[in-house]
Order: sequence, then C-alpha cells, then structure tokens
Amino acid sequence: MSSGGTSAYIGRFAPTPSGPLHFGSLVTAVGSYLDARARQGQWLLRIEDVDRPRVVPGAADDILRTLECFGLHWDGPVLFQSQRQEAYEEALHRLREQGRLYACGCSRRQLNALDLRRGPLGLIYPGLCRDRALGFSGHSLRLRIDTPARIRFEDRHCGPRELDLAGEVGDVVLKRVDGIYAYHLAVVVDDAFQGVSDIVRGADLLDVSFLHRHLASLLRLPLPRYLHLPLVYAPGGRKLSKQTGAQPLDRARPAAQLWQALEFLGQQPPGKEGGMAVQELLEWAIDHWQPQRLPAVQLPVSA
Ligand code: GLU
Repeated sequence: MSSGGTSAYIGRFAPTPSGPLHFGSLVTAVGSYLDARARQGQWLLRIEDVDRPRVVPGAADDILRTLECFGLHWDGPVLFQSQRQEAYEEALHRLREQGRLYACGCSRRQLNALDLRRGPLGLIYPGLCRDRALGFSGHSLRLRIDTPARIRFEDRHCGPRELDLAGEVGDVVLKRVDGIYAYHLAVVVDDAFQGVSDIVRGADLLDVSFLHRHLASLLRLPLPRYLHLPLVYAPGGRKLSKQTGAQPLDRARPAAQLWQALEFLGQQPPGKEGGMAVQELLEWAIDHWQPQRLPAVQLPVSA
C-alpha cells in the first residue's frame, strides 16, 4: 500500500483485458497515476473483465507486466470484475426494490429495425417493455430513467457538463440476456467499493459519466470527481484502439514511450525521448504534474 499522506485521494486505472496496452492506454494510465501520486494518493488497479466474451486469455497478465515495466506500480491487490458478480447482483436487487428495474424482451435486431434516435450513449430505447411486467429471468434488465431529467457535474478538465438523461440516453440495459452485467453498473459499484475519490480516464467516457452519476445517486454511493483526458487518435480521426490499428506498447523501450505520453499530456518533459530512465522520468513527472497544461479535449468522430 502507499505510504498514505494526509490526502484522501484514491485514483485508479481500469483497463479491459481485450488486448495489450497501446499508446492511448499508456496516456490514460500515466495521467491517472500522476494525478494520484502528485496528491500523495493511492493508485488502484482494476481489471474490467466483466464482459467475458471480450476478454482475451492472457491479456490481463500482459497488462500487469507492461504497467510494471513502465514503472506504474499500483497499490494493494488487483480487483477483477469477474469476481464481483455478487456485488452487482446486490446493486440490481436494490434498484429492483426501488421499482426502477424492468425486464425487456426486445432483441437488438428488433430495435435496429425501429430506426430509433441516437444519443451520446447509443440508441435511445423508448421504454417499449416498461409496462409489460415480463419475468426477470431469460430477459435483459433495464433501468427506468424518467427522472431526474438533467444531470450536471463539473469535470476538472472539461468544465461544467449537463445532459438530459431521460431524453438523451433513455432506459439502459444493466444486465444482458446472456447474464452479463453492464460496464456501467460494474464501474459504479466498484469505484465505490474501492473508495475511489477521483476518476481520471479518457474523454471517450465523458458522456457515460452522466449515467454513472445517476446510478451512484440511486444506489446512495458517494460521487467521485472526474477528470477526462484528451484522446489519442488514429489517422482518420477515430480513437486509437486495437480496431484502428494501435500497436502494443513495446516493453523493450519504455522510457521513450513514457516521454511521448508526457509530451502528449502537455507536461513538457525534460531532455529528449529516451534520455532519462523510467523511474527518474516518473519522479520528475510527479513533481511537475500540471493538469492545467493538458491539451483541450476533442471528441472522436463516431465509429
Ligand atoms: N474499462 C474501460 C476501458 O478500458 C475504462 C473504464 C473506466 O475507466 O471507467 O476503456
């Protein structure tokens, strides 16, 4: 565990083990690590393997080895979402008791055929099954989002944000028909369980934060602060990812890529890339972390 300190800052990095880390993931890991360490905070690691079909065997181990190689040492044990099913079920139970959960029999194909409006989180489900009172087993489970209409929060980098959740997002699935819990539910339950005070992650997740805050309020969980980092883009303007051709980080030359990540984050690292050893560079970066130097966020063109 960390040496503690007076601050109650707890940050985290929460990769999905769907492949090796790439430069975009390094930028997120470094940004959240520096924000935590510069505040004498803890930096926790959570492997987001809740969506089992997306998990690539061996990817979680590969991620841990890569983080270590880049000097990004986390505090405490790694939390695996695949071992948190009971906590997610318990949260669903509480939402059900509040009358906010209902079973939905609509298939993706049926919904695609309906020509539904799209919001920032995808198709806006118009609540077709809300009053059908279908049984909970054998169906997906949706959260009824009718009130409150507007969610507001202040992002530490992107400023004030506001969205009409009922109008722009609609009723979201929290458990799929195949039994898999939604990322949105898992992330909210786990951030609270890990005591996370500050979420620092990529700006592709800026808009899902509205839903996360709404879920946390319904579950009476503390609301964390947010800082959404600029995204690394692939040629063509889409977010860098395995699908858009991102290469895995090269564990043979961590110092150069770390330097590039700091440069990308606007931190003006000293010297030239690869000129300083990883540990030295990280120590410099913790001492000089200035979130106000982050470049402005530009949101990706959609896939
Ligand atoms: N697991 C998500 C991802 O790899 C990140 C979730 C989060 O930071 O809230 O994109």
